Amino acid sequence: MTDHNSVRRNILLNPGPATTTDTVKQAQIVPDICPREVEFQKIMEEIRGDLVRIIHGKPEEYTAVLFCGSGTICMDVALNSLLPEGKLALVIQNGSYSERAVEILKAYHLPHIELVQPIDHAPDLDVIEKTLADNPDIAYVYVTHHETGSGLLNPIREIGEIAHRHDAVFITDTTSSYAMIPIDVYADNIDFCMASAQKGIMGMTGLSYVIGRRDLIEKSRLYPTRSYYCNLAFQYDYFEKTGQMHFTPPVQVIYAARQALAEYFTEGEQRKWDRHRRVMAAIHEGEDRLGLQEMLDRGEQAGLVSAVYYPDDPHWDFDKVHDYCYERGFTIYPGKIEKKGTFRLCALGAIDAPDIEAFWKVFEEALENCGITDLPAAGKGKKSL
Ligand SMILES: *Cc1c(COP(=O)(O)O)cnc(C)c1O
Repeated sequence: MTDHNSVRRNILLNPGPATTTDTVKQAQIVPDICPREVEFQKIMEEIRGDLVRIIHGKPEEYTAVLFCGSGTICMDVALNSLLPEGKLALVIQNGSYSERAVEILKAYHLPHIELVQPIDHAPDLDVIEKTLADNPDIAYVYVTHHETGSGLLNPIREIGEIAHRHDAVFITDTTSSYAMIPIDVYADNIDFCMASAQKGIMGMTGLSYVIGRRDLIEKSRLYPTRSYYCNLAFQYDYFEKTGQMHFTPPVQVIYAARQALAEYFTEGEQRKWDRHRRVMAAIHEGEDRLGLQEMLDRGEQAGLVSAVYYPDDPHWDFDKVHDYCYERGFTIYPGKIEKKGTFRLCALGAIDAPDIEAFWKVFEEALENCGITDLPAAGKGKKSL
């Protein structure tokens, strides 16, 4: 690669957009093309097939419907499009992203049950079971797979099984787990899931997808429409009829996604997940060395986000530490649980354990720069490690 093409490599430890490879960045530089050309349709068709393949769906049963927008567009689409007239949605609410799902249902004035569960451990399956038994009108159950705000892993396989036993459709937001944690739609009882190109596949922002059962999308044509732009059956039908997105797609982002998917399959499902786990092990290792405390027990974590309490030191200043790290190419991210004072370190993206080791060196310098010397290893990083 020539110098002309190389871009500074930043290590993003925020929960997406993630660090991308140079080859994905450069894949966006293509001759101008009208997205209504057959050549472009073929690329979208290929991408849709690959997105289904990642979660092991049979292409005749599952489909990927592309949308131009950030990941939230898929939550909106799935929640508003898949609720039949007079039926109820059930949201298992145990974190900031499922809270967002409830906000979406409220914005559309859709009848729903918000089943609030603790944010720091897996939900009570008996309560979910009972809620479904008591409310036969529940049409779908919605849960966030990996709660990106806290790092919590929800047991989708078990929840999906309960939903199906009660004849409810199972929808899960896999935006921050898809193409990272291995998922199998059949084994995991998934009818619909969703993700966004800037997270698991390590592409660019602006392309998101709902992946789910064709028969259920076709059935949803008869449900009341609550949105014109964000309707699942409308977009699906348009794709099926024309091979195109209904409205202008994010052209260059789609070229980047094609490259990112090629790199995904080259790396391989298991090897990629192993790499993310190596990254998280390196994050945990540094936390242990510095005596930093996490919000969640490691047994509850999905292994992709670590929410860390601010060090108990009057000199701690998140912005100062952030800026020190940022200037050196490392981005850390504020916590979602603002009141408690946490920040997040995430294992998404095209990074590996040595990047985290380099990060901890800079972080220790940042602590020293703030005047924090009480943590077990603070101020000693450069000398002893
Ligand atoms: C990132 C993310 C989203 C989408 O967020 P946007 O800001 O719209 O990209 C949705 N759900 C989860 C769990 C996420 O991690």
